[in-house]
Amino acid sequence: MKYYSLNKTAPEVGFKEAVIRGLAPDKGLYFPTAITPLTDAFFSQLSDMDTAEIGYEVIRQFVGKDIEPTQLRRIVAETLSFPIPLKKITDQVSVLELFHGPTLAFKDVGARFMARCLAYFQAQKSTSQEVTVLVATSGDTGGAVAHGFYQVEGVKVVILYPSGKVSGLQEKQLTTLGANISALEVQGTFDDCQAMVKQAFLDQDILSQRQLTSANSINVARWLPQMFYYFMAYQQRQDISKPWVVSVPSGNYGNICAGMMARRLGLKIDHFVAGTNANDVIPKYLASGDYQAQPSVATISNAMDVGDPSNFVRIDALFEGNWEGLKEVLSSYSFTDAQTLEAICSLYEQTNYVADPHGSVGYLALERFLETHPQWEGAFLETAHPVKFQDVMPKELLDKIPLPQRVKGLMDQPKQSTVIDSYSQLKSYLLDT
Ligand SMILES: *Cc1c(COP(=O)(O)O)cnc(C)c1O
Repeated sequence: MKYYSLNKTAPEVGFKEAVIRGLAPDKGLYFPTAITPLTDAFFSQLSDMDTAEIGYEVIRQFVGKDIEPTQLRRIVAETLSFPIPLKKITDQVSVLELFHGPTLAFKDVGARFMARCLAYFQAQKSTSQEVTVLVATSGDTGGAVAHGFYQVEGVKVVILYPSGKVSGLQEKQLTTLGANISALEVQGTFDDCQAMVKQAFLDQDILSQRQLTSANSINVARWLPQMFYYFMAYQQRQDISKPWVVSVPSGNYGNICAGMMARRLGLKIDHFVAGTNANDVIPKYLASGDYQAQPSVATISNAMDVGDPSNFVRIDALFEGNWEGLKEVLSSYSFTDAQTLEAICSLYEQTNYVADPHGSVGYLALERFLETHPQWEGAFLETAHPVKFQDVMPKELLDKIPLPQRVKGLMDQPKQSTVIDSYSQLKSYLLDT
């Protein structure tokens, strides 16, 4: 399998090189040169397959010969080592819970897969040069990457996060592991963290001495494994006679784009809905045909505070820039924080289900679509556990949110971080440690 750069001025590369590079040299995102639908035989066996087998069949054309089949099977099985249940909450609506992984967010799936691919490529090398994964986080990415790469041989992880701007639990998830994981607490905003990371990737002094790689959501090894759970959701549908819509709370549009890839492989999802907060570039684009990036706006569903979604170019590539064609498969609606909170409460009152602010946006978008499609069934993705967003959840629901076993005890562990406030401090950190 080859990947080309969506900026079209870089050479094609295989899976391994696309994973190690992250972004193509012309700064474009990598995209597969061919997408071959899965066979009828695959779909007729789907209901009896186990999740690791499904994942292997889904991903293998995109990995090609770069990972041996037995190793790829192991990587997929380790990636999917936690449940991803589809729960029916009303006659028409189900929720796909993506938060049963180690850091309680869907990013665990992509991060675990990518970490294991990189570990495999590191082990194959004749030299023992370490790779440094450098990543900026506004919250969920950092924890997922830290846990995904924890104790992976030959890989060091450096995470930059904005001091005081991630939730208490999120901070503990990225500052308590130790070993090969370091957290840099930046006196600034998420944008400052991201700017420093970008500068490091262009700094020849660093590049000549360290092998840097990124683990953000544009990496193909984080993006593509997100297809797995769309198949797992379909497999758990009880009745497939009605048309089916899947609603994805979206920020950078990597998750929903993976769903659209799953559809391209033949999975029967009839329509997608992208739920957004006040950052509404895509709903506006679908309405007008005019893509206008905007500065991001802060909301309570902060993992979706993105003003220029980086993965949207991949969706465009899937539809070859055909806006009319895209609109047949994708709808998108934007909601305010007040609507999001209100929906968390009304969903709880009607169904006893507690959604987090991101899932709530997905739920709202699904309901909006179903208003005009009463014969359909739908699912929304619950992308994180509500306990991660306790500080913004409605107060009256806080005691309805149990702390999952795997994060109990985390709050008592000491935080280990290094405070920095300038690029030069990041640079010395990377060169001296
Ligand atoms: C990252 C994240 C999103 C947005 O996902 P994209 O792939 O960037 O669209 C939604 N919800 C949660 C909880 C997240 O962490």
